[in-house]
Amino acid sequence: MTTITGNLLVAGSEKRGTNGDFQAIEAAAGVLLPVSFGGANADDVEEASRQAWTAFNSYRQTTLESRALFLEAIAEEIEAIGDELISRAMLETGLPRGRLEGERARTIGQLRLFAKEVREGRFQELRFDPADPTRKPVAKPDLRLRNIPLGPVAVFGASNFPLAFSVAGGDTASALAAGCPVIVKAHSAHPGTSELVGRAVQRAVAGAGLHPGTFSLLFDAGFEVGQKLVADPRIRAVGFTGSRRGGTALMEIASHRKQPIPVYAEMSSINPVILFPGALKSRARDIASTFVASLVLGAGQFCTNPGLLLAIDGGDLDTFTTTAAELLPEVGAQPMLTPSIAKAYCDGVARLEQHPKVKPVASGKVGTKYDGRAALFETTAAAFLDHHELQDEVFGAAGLIVRCRDMAQLDEVLDALEGQLTVAIHIDEGDQDAARRFVPKLELLAGRLLVNGFGTGVEVSPAMVHGGPYPATADGRSTSVGTLAIYRFLRPVSYQDFPERLLPEALR
Ligand code: NAP
Repeated sequence: MTTITGNLLVAGSEKRGTNGDFQAIEAAAGVLLPVSFGGANADDVEEASRQAWTAFNSYRQTTLESRALFLEAIAEEIEAIGDELISRAMLETGLPRGRLEGERARTIGQLRLFAKEVREGRFQELRFDPADPTRKPVAKPDLRLRNIPLGPVAVFGASNFPLAFSVAGGDTASALAAGCPVIVKAHSAHPGTSELVGRAVQRAVAGAGLHPGTFSLLFDAGFEVGQKLVADPRIRAVGFTGSRRGGTALMEIASHRKQPIPVYAEMSSINPVILFPGALKSRARDIASTFVASLVLGAGQFCTNPGLLLAIDGGDLDTFTTTAAELLPEVGAQPMLTPSIAKAYCDGVARLEQHPKVKPVASGKVGTKYDGRAALFETTAAAFLDHHELQDEVFGAAGLIVRCRDMAQLDEVLDALEGQLTVAIHIDEGDQDAARRFVPKLELLAGRLLVNGFGTGVEVSPAMVHGGPYPATADGRSTSVGTLAIYRFLRPVSYQDFPERLLPEALR
């Protein structure tokens, strides 16, 4: 018996959306799933935004302890949903049970980590710079500083993380931790999963005695709701994970508002992997096998998927390529998140197959039309440098090996790359001097640099950066994973010569 209704969750209440209906699609079979979801209209966006703005007044002033308890209550409510959440998410996304159970644990862990961060209170950045009335030629004022939350945040859930980067995922957790109410535009790929989690958050809001406008969840059969939300003057920041086209469309709207607002959009990345000569000579076969495993993980539907491999041409690279070509045909096709993502992947692979400068290396097993079939290609550095389109993300298990003439040409390729989420280098002891010369360049290219690993599997940690220069993200100064994410939704305020009674409690 499902508890999914298809209703909008607007500030503590629920209502049927009247702006068109849509149904979720079973990812692996392409058939419609039960329950139709009613799209929100302009009045619903207005109501959610108005309530969020009202809630902001009280929510931002909650004590750190009560805010932390609220985040922990959301985690408990999600846990309490039980198997219905996992079963529905499996149908809607095609992701396997184990992966989704792990993702639920990560989502809950993330909320608890932010609760801890809130309790510790460091994010407030309290600073005290005492007055010096004797300073000449002018007396020095008393200055105190703290971070305050920005205001209501619009969150766009990611298709590829239906729990950890969706309704109560990293963007929502970090915004709520900062003291910002959240309005989520549910991803149309997993509306049932979204509703179940949305109800859990709604229950936690009520249980904590918070203003109901602290959280709302809206559905939409198109892009209208999301665009209206971003344009609403009461929304003060946006968290987004998805395509470059979607992210840049929202950035455009945000920048043309009367009061422009930050859009933290995580968009596209091909996550270069550089194989240094020593590592390739001693471990070509081993690296090839871990590379293939990373490439095909989750049908390649990770923003950190290793889509580009750079190495010096020669026999050792041939060994790597031959090994990958032996392994890949054994890899089964896997269902993709949505039929449209499956089609986009198929089209992207076809573009590479038809590219005059690209050669196929190997493919995985054939599956249904909703499955992604892994595919590996190769090209030369000269061709890669001449054809910018070869940098386009093909979201799924597709990879491109770029054969470079020498280190100087590899350096040229790095110079031509767009901003990335991750760059991985594979090195042996003897490669360290060469690798050291590259590090300053790699720092400018990506938000996370890895040695002898792959970017898939993003640790939720205080020291994690899941971000990077444009177009990996809209703003490379921040991260969407890890506790540092809270700073996206804060701004500093300085209090000069304030009498004690007027000062915020934390600054007294
Ligand atoms: P998407 O199409 O960008 O959709 C993400 C969210 O934004 C959805 O809620 C979507 O609404 C909304 N949206 C998209 N375009 C919009 C627009 N112009 N105006 C207002 N709202 C808009 O991304 P996706 O469906 O998750 O996946 C499609 C592609 O995104 C993939 O093929 C891949 O290239 C990329 N992707 C990248 C990452 C990453 O982390 N780098 C992660 C996931 C996906 P609807 O729900 O109504 O569609």
